[in-house]
Amino acid sequence: MRIISGGLQHETNTFAVSKTSVDDFVRDSHFGIGYGTPEDICRRFEGTNTIHGGYLRGARELELELLPVLNLRAYPSGMVLRECFEALVGELLNRIESALPADGVLLDLHGAMVTEDFEDAEAEIVRRVRGIVGTDVPIVVTLDLHANISPDLVEFADAIIGFDTYPHVDMGDRGYEAVALMSRILRTEVRPVMALRQLPLLTLPPMQCTLREPMQSFIADLHELESEEGILTATVAMGFPFADIECMGVSVIVVADRDQELAEAMVDQLSQRLWSLREKLQPQLVSIEHAMEVSQQTDGLVIFADGSDNPGGGAPCDGTVALQALIEAKHVGAVVATLWDPEAVELAWEAGVGVELQLPLGAKVDDQHGDTLEVTAKVLRLSDGEFVFGGAMAQGLSDSLGNTALLEIDGVRVVVTSLRRQCIDRNMLRTVGVELDSISLLVLKSAVHFRADFGEFADEILDADTPGIHRPDFSCFEYKNSRSHSCYPLVSFNQLDI
Ligand SMILES: [Zn+2]
Repeated sequence: MRIISGGLQHETNTFAVSKTSVDDFVRDSHFGIGYGTPEDICRRFEGTNTIHGGYLRGARELELELLPVLNLRAYPSGMVLRECFEALVGELLNRIESALPADGVLLDLHGAMVTEDFEDAEAEIVRRVRGIVGTDVPIVVTLDLHANISPDLVEFADAIIGFDTYPHVDMGDRGYEAVALMSRILRTEVRPVMALRQLPLLTLPPMQCTLREPMQSFIADLHELESEEGILTATVAMGFPFADIECMGVSVIVVADRDQELAEAMVDQLSQRLWSLREKLQPQLVSIEHAMEVSQQTDGLVIFADGSDNPGGGAPCDGTVALQALIEAKHVGAVVATLWDPEAVELAWEAGVGVELQLPLGAKVDDQHGDTLEVTAKVLRLSDGEFVFGGAMAQGLSDSLGNTALLEIDGVRVVVTSLRRQCIDRNMLRTVGVELDSISLLVLKSAVHFRADFGEFADEILDADTPGIHRPDFSCFEYKNSRSHSCYPLVSFNQLDI
C-alpha cells in the first residue's frame, strides 16, 4: 500500500503586526528554496519525536510505502499572506498530483493557520487535496492541540487526530497513530465516522497544560473513552485564542467505526465533562517583582513563564518588562532566555567576547512588549546557535537560534538570538554554555512547552503577569468575531449552557 504524506504548518497570531511570507517558511523549514525532496524530508524527520517522525516509524513497522512529498512550517507569527498560501499549497498539490496513484493521504497540519482569504486555512488545504485525490482515497489529518477547528475541516477529512499533550510530547505517537489508522482503513477493517462539537468555551495556554489539573485528569478520561469498543480515536483541541476568527475556541472530536450515533453520544459525553471544568481553566498571573521575592526565599530554581511574549504563539520574543525589572533590582543569578534582537547580536559579535559595550536592547518590533533598554552589557559568550532538541518535545530534531550572544547586565544574563525561537529545551541554553545549576531565577518566553525539559528541575513555576500579544488574559484583546462574545469566559457563565 502506497501512502502520500504532506505537511504545511503555521499557528497564526492575528494580533501580530507583521505578516507571514514564503521567506519565513523557507527560513524555518531547513530545506532551502527548493523546499526539499522526499529524501530530504526522510533525513530530517527520521528518528525524531515529530508527526513526520511518527509517520516514518509507523510506515516502516506496518510495512507500508510512505512518500513524503512536502513538509514546511513557519514559526508562529502574523497572518499568512495570500501569495504565500497560494504558492505553498500549489506546490503541495503539484507534488501530490505527481506522486499519484496512492491508496491514502496523510496530512501533517497545525489547525490554527489564518490567511488573508481563509480563517480556517486547513479546511481549505484539505478541500483542495480532496479535489485532487477524489472521495475514494482516505485522508487522515493530524492537528496540534491548539487547532481552531471548523465543521468544514471535518467534512473534507476522513479522520482527524489531534495531539493529546501540551507540552506536545506525543507528536511521534500521534503520527504513528495516523499511519496505523490509515492501515486499518485501507485493509477495510474499519470505516471512520466523525462527530465534532465546538464548545462555547475559550481557554488560555497556562491551564491548557496537560501536566496540570484539571487537564491531566481530563486527558486520562479521553484515553479511557478511546479504549472503548467502536471508538477509533478522540481529540480535544483547546484552541488558539490569539486568533480573532469565528472558529476560535475549544472543540472535541470523536471518531468511531461506522457508528455515527456512538460518535455523537461520546462527543457529547466528553464535551459535557470539559465544560464542567471551565472555571478551573482560568490562569493566575504574578508579577516579576513577586517572582524575585520568591526566588530570594528559594534555594533552587524559580521559573517565570513569560508566556505573554511567547514566540511559539506568534509574539515578538523581544519584550523587556521582566528584563528591565531584573536589571533595576540587580538580581544576580537571573537569566532571560531567549530575547530576539539580531541587531544586538551583531554588535556583540563585532565587539567580541569579554568586551563591554553600550547598546539598545529589545522591544523593537512593536510598542506592546515594553521599552527598548539602553544598557551597558558585557559579552560573555558567542555561538552559532545550532542545537538538537534533547528534551521529549521534538527530540532529535535539529534547529538553530542563529548567531547568539550571552550578555551580562548588572549581574543579569540574557541569551540574545538572531532567530526568533521559544526557549523550551536546555540544549538551547547550552549553545552559550549556560546550565541550570548557575541560575536562581529563569525568565523563559514560553507559556507551557518549557515544562517538558525544564519542569522537573524547577522548585517553583510562576505564570507571568506581563504585557504582550500572547498574554493569557482575554480582557486585553478586542475580539471582533461574533462567536467569541458568546463563549465563556467572555460572556457570563449564567447565560450559557450546553
Ligand atoms: Zn500547540
